[in-house]
Amino acid sequence: MSVLVVGSTALDSIKTPKSENPRLLGGSASHAAVAASFFSPVKLVGVVGDDFPKRYVQLYKRHRIDLTGLQVVPGRTFHWSGEYEANMNNRRTLLTELGVFETFSPALPKSHRDAPFVLLANIAPSLQHHVLDQMEKPRFVAADTMDLWLNIALPDLLKLLKRLDAFVLNDSEAHQLTQEDNVFAALKKIHKLGPRFVIIKKGSHGSILSGPGGFFICPAYPLHKVVDPTGAGDSFVGGLMGYLATARGPIQTHVRRAMIYGSVVASFCCEGFGLLRTTRVSRKQIDQRVKELERLTRF
Ligand code: AMP
Repeated sequence: MSVLVVGSTALDSIKTPKSENPRLLGGSASHAAVAASFFSPVKLVGVVGDDFPKRYVQLYKRHRIDLTGLQVVPGRTFHWSGEYEANMNNRRTLLTELGVFETFSPALPKSHRDAPFVLLANIAPSLQHHVLDQMEKPRFVAADTMDLWLNIALPDLLKLLKRLDAFVLNDSEAHQLTQEDNVFAALKKIHKLGPRFVIIKKGSHGSILSGPGGFFICPAYPLHKVVDPTGAGDSFVGGLMGYLATARGPIQTHVRRAMIYGSVVASFCCEGFGLLRTTRVSRKQIDQRVKELERLTRF
């Protein structure tokens, strides 16, 4: 089954203490779409300007991502720039140039409206609503967010939570949303806001699911070196949704394994700048890491 992914399609300029990489392919939807494409057909919805490099279009195509919903309009592509500290965890946003994103209104082609799995990757909650309004009857809808929307669009986000099956956010965002320091208390509060499945991401410490089947503690794959964690969260949720879309039967039966697959794709994302590593990974390499995680967590 196919996964519809909407979110930002960006050019990312990423600085680390060791290197500087301008205008890489980035954006929440790009990371999520590539991650999901290892498992399922993906339909990407986003916008880029006429400066968007052709080689990035080819990259999407190599992953068999359906680009019918990607608008190309006159103007500049959304450009984001961030700088990491030496610990590779703390990140500072240096620049956000909205470009064509400023006037973006996602219009879904007819062929996209019956997609059974919908991933609302990080983008303004009003646009996430707008996409959902155009969908026929999706089987499973998940959304991601960021601190910016908690700060400037909380009412829209709260309304969105009531329309979701799953909500994925990181631990600092969960704290900001609930004022809870305890992650399990935060999960309980977020369920009350709407979603049946809530996943809190904890970076290199993995993630925690709370759902109808109870909790699941999902490990991160142990990496000895992180090159660039940009997009790891998007890769996690993209991999998770891509895997879920291949599984038959109730979501609850497969969601734990789906998180492990998401976690593994995210680990590859961290091993290269932007999408450089993820786009060179094979399904076999993903399966190998999943096996390793199974071995590491068996007791
Ligand atoms: P993450 O590392 O999971 O926080 O995701 C980083 C990605 O988010 C980058 O590829 C950026 O292009 C994208 N991004 C940064 N700021 C925004 C924003 N305001 N809206 C949507 N996407 C953004």
